Amino acid sequence: MKKHPKTLRTLLRITLLVVLCLLVLVKFDKREEKVTNIIYMVGDGMGVAHISAAQIAKDYKPLNMERADYVGLCKTNSANSRVTDSAAAGTALATGHKTNNGMIGMTPDSVAHPSIRERAELAGMPTGIVVTYPVTNATPATFVGHVPNRHWEDDIATYYISNEVDVIIGGGSKRFDQRGDGRNLLDTLSARGYVVAKELAEIEAVESGKVVVLPTEDSTPSYLHGRGDFLPNATAKALEILTNNAQKSDSGFFLMVEGSQIDGKAHGHDLEGMLAEIYDFDAAVNVAFDYADEHPGTLVVVTADHETGGLTIVNGNRKFDIHDLEVDFAWTTGGHTGGMVPIFAYGTGAENFSGVLDNTDLPKIMCRLLGLDYEE
Ligand SMILES: [Zn+2]
Repeated sequence: MKKHPKTLRTLLRITLLVVLCLLVLVKFDKREEKVTNIIYMVGDGMGVAHISAAQIAKDYKPLNMERADYVGLCKTNSANSRVTDSAAAGTALATGHKTNNGMIGMTPDSVAHPSIRERAELAGMPTGIVVTYPVTNATPATFVGHVPNRHWEDDIATYYISNEVDVIIGGGSKRFDQRGDGRNLLDTLSARGYVVAKELAEIEAVESGKVVVLPTEDSTPSYLHGRGDFLPNATAKALEILTNNAQKSDSGFFLMVEGSQIDGKAHGHDLEGMLAEIYDFDAAVNVAFDYADEHPGTLVVVTADHETGGLTIVNGNRKFDIHDLEVDFAWTTGGHTGGMVPIFAYGTGAENFSGVLDNTDLPKIMCRLLGLDYEE
């Protein structure tokens, strides 16, 4: 070795040069990579304080959301209120349009506007919806339907017939098979080739095609009341099916996942329940981020529709003594608040979701990245 120091040095230099070239190429490649798949994740009612509470309760062990490459803030006001509800916020996140509280997928003048999911479906992409509240609840409703009143859930269910959502997983079977009009929409879906199931376990062997899994008549149970790993498991299953369907249609896919019950626990000022829902949603985020690692071209955007409960984190003894680790989690309202909510973006195209954005910006940016038309 001592015999050829010059040769060794030259070799080392060449190796270093090659490694540098490769690194530049990889970086360039990542920038040039096209977004083909989008996983859009909504933590209902999940404000910055909720996430902070989740960090504190685990002694700052990083949440999976903290893996995000880019972080932004999102304004949440609706067309008729500084404090939005889930219907108007969902409409903004899904269609790019502000509307009045209570309205689904349409502007205040009752004109319907397609959601990012509908645009993806029209472009031939397989799509999916995974939630823990009924699939006819406000947030998922804004990705499929167009009604002036969020409570018209029987009507919202019919949009799962007029649309073709490849993967439908959540609660709310009664809107499909115990309807006011006597129709059985599960029979209709079955006749159209859907695998209709009551449990995720029933579709374990299903790797592609169309599935509807509605384990409960109404909402699925909360995490602390036995839902288990339904949400992260459903997210993983949806990704498997959508990946295979996308391969067949030579396209990408669009999946919306909602951590639905964070909101309900915050409305009820149930801190323990709320934290369990956040950790569960965060487990689903991990599934999506891991998927993005393994599948270049995948963008994951995690956000919330609004903050619920006006959660604040104050010093337990109010002395603000640095040695005192005690905190109080204080709720200031039983409703929603008008503050901004976080955005965590990961994977290809994540850099487009940093800074301060309006909730209407998100689907517009997603359309641009997928190469889909977006008309105002
Ligand atoms: Zn909400």
